[in-house]
Amino acid sequence: MTEKVKYIPTIGIECHVQLCTKTKLFSEVDNDARQKSPNSCVSPVDYGLPGMLPRLNKMAVRYAVRAGLALNSEINLQSRFDRKHYFYPDLPKGYQITQLFHPIIGAGYVELPSGSKIRIEHAHLEEDAGKLSHESGDSLVDLNRAGTPLVEIVSMPDIHSAVEAREYTKELWRVMTYAGVTFGDLYNGNMRFDVNISIAPESSDKLGTRAEVKNLNSFRSVERAVEYEIKRQSKLLGKGEKVVQETRGWSDATGETTSQRSKEEAQDYRYMPEPDIPPLNLRPEVVDEERANLPIMPAEYRAKFNDILGSDTVEILLDYRPLMEKLAELDDNKAAKKIANLFSSVLLAEENASLLNDELPSKEQLLDLVAMNEKNELSSTGMKEVFLKFFDPEMHYKDTLTIAKELGVVQENNLEELEKIVDAVLAKPETQQAQADFKAGQEKVIGFLVGQVMKESHGKANPSAVQDILRKKLQ
Ligand code: MN
Repeated sequence: MTEKVKYIPTIGIECHVQLCTKTKLFSEVDNDARQKSPNSCVSPVDYGLPGMLPRLNKMAVRYAVRAGLALNSEINLQSRFDRKHYFYPDLPKGYQITQLFHPIIGAGYVELPSGSKIRIEHAHLEEDAGKLSHESGDSLVDLNRAGTPLVEIVSMPDIHSAVEAREYTKELWRVMTYAGVTFGDLYNGNMRFDVNISIAPESSDKLGTRAEVKNLNSFRSVERAVEYEIKRQSKLLGKGEKVVQETRGWSDATGETTSQRSKEEAQDYRYMPEPDIPPLNLRPEVVDEERANLPIMPAEYRAKFNDILGSDTVEILLDYRPLMEKLAELDDNKAAKKIANLFSSVLLAEENASLLNDELPSKEQLLDLVAMNEKNELSSTGMKEVFLKFFDPEMHYKDTLTIAKELGVVQENNLEELEKIVDAVLAKPETQQAQADFKAGQEKVIGFLVGQVMKESHGKANPSAVQDILRKKLQ
């Protein structure tokens, strides 16, 4: 009987991130082609017309530096551009300007929610090509995307399962959007993933032959494509056949990868130094400035809040960056816990989804809300009511106490006042029976008496204080 061989998958991922600069990487035309007609954001540089001269976009370089810092990478103060030649209808120049030998971003890592680290080999700056669409037998070229700045992030083969591949791509998306270098619109291809997958028997110390699945644009399709490839390659090896090194395409509809072409080698592209762009020499101050301005990254939020809020809550809230920023702004762990609870129970409730587009309450409003709750001036229900009013256009500019008073939800804590109300209730004929029952040992009638006091106070009494007073008086 033959024993089933266990295969270990090894996965590396390349990700193209479109930078959200105002203009293109080498020309001054609009880089944001959303809602614009095809071929309306194109300059002679992007067409590759004779005599054109590319000029490097400073902001794109800044964004690349910022992306590199978000990847915990070394920033190379000196980098260079190369020409990568190939023919395709969406690339009129016949070559792509990219960085092969001297990329701007060196080795770094991405930390996953689980805490494991996926190393980054390097990342480089390059231009995007145009887009082809195939309609009823015709192929149409749109060059609006030609020349859009990209950062291509190349991971080390540190990923070993389909789930981990999905987690890595999701985290990469979070890191890039938190860094503010991309719109991160996956549906429109702002981030695209190429996944290299090989498998090898557990006992082997050599990696297997890899297949590359190109142009995946969702976390889910990354996971599914990897699952499919692991199965396909295991089957081949199980039959004693070989995995071919090649580029494969993915279909969301069929859930399968299909062979597209055999894998090119670097020499096929006739790389050469780009003669139109001088070497890029960064001033160290540029890196320092970007480092100082780098927003708080997801891993930092986890380190700060996982113990306080629990990692499940943190992962949910990380999908809503302004909420995370607000919690950090409070700069008070105890308050953050209560406010995070309001965020997830009230703001993320389906019926309040529209409020997420509104301006969030101020730090002062939220801290006052927590303080009033701590002082028993607001019950947790009262807290929710006031919190919702922060989003009311008529109310949002008012301070917490004013809103609470207008809503009539401030709790009465003045013991003398409360005692007066309790006395009034105990004097009423309709509470006599309950008082007698309580004295006779019927513990649960205390609830009825508290309820009577609450009614008498029009809901403003602090129920736990009321209960204390009642017990004292009825002993
Ligand atoms: Mn590339």
